[in-house]
Amino acid sequence: MNNMTPEAQRIAIDNTRVTLDCNSMNEQRMSERFWSKVSVVEDSRCWLWNGSSDVNGYGKFRASGRTIRAPRVAFFLRNSRWPNNACHRCDNPRCCNPDHIFDGTHAENMRDMAEKGRAKTDRGEAHWRAVLTDAKVIAMRADYKSGTISLYRLAAKNGCSFSTAQRVIKRTNWRHLP
Ligand SMILES: [Zn+2]
Repeated sequence: MNNMTPEAQRIAIDNTRVTLDCNSMNEQRMSERFWSKVSVVEDSRCWLWNGSSDVNGYGKFRASGRTIRAPRVAFFLRNSRWPNNACHRCDNPRCCNPDHIFDGTHAENMRDMAEKGRAKTDRGEAHWRAVLTDAKVIAMRADYKSGTISLYRLAAKNGCSFSTAQRVIKRTNWRHLP
């Protein structure tokens, strides 16, 4: 019931072309091309890849003359870094919902840190389940406050789910940030 129609998705993607600085243009173009191949739906459901897949069922995305597994790109667009190992919480290789994808190595490290009592806090980006960086949360709030972007567009622009964008704006999470 919460599906966005393909048309709504296309509009959401088109509308991400707002107030971008030059440095982020390449990433933004890649982001638009990438998300146009994904069925972006609300909440915690799987966002399925609609492009071609490899023999293991992982989406294939072409960028800079290379073929990259789609979940790796989804992780990159969310975290601004490539994962060592893009793992699925949902065990669905076609899924590109950044909420469902984690860097196996990173998550293991953080869990290890927590077990050893060295993790200082469980809020914000230090938490191993953090899906947005502190800087991104602050930028999203400023963006939304400008009144020119809807929650849907904000979510698409930042590669997060609608519910995550909602938690950012309503300050349900990341309350320690301005
Ligand atoms: Zn999933």
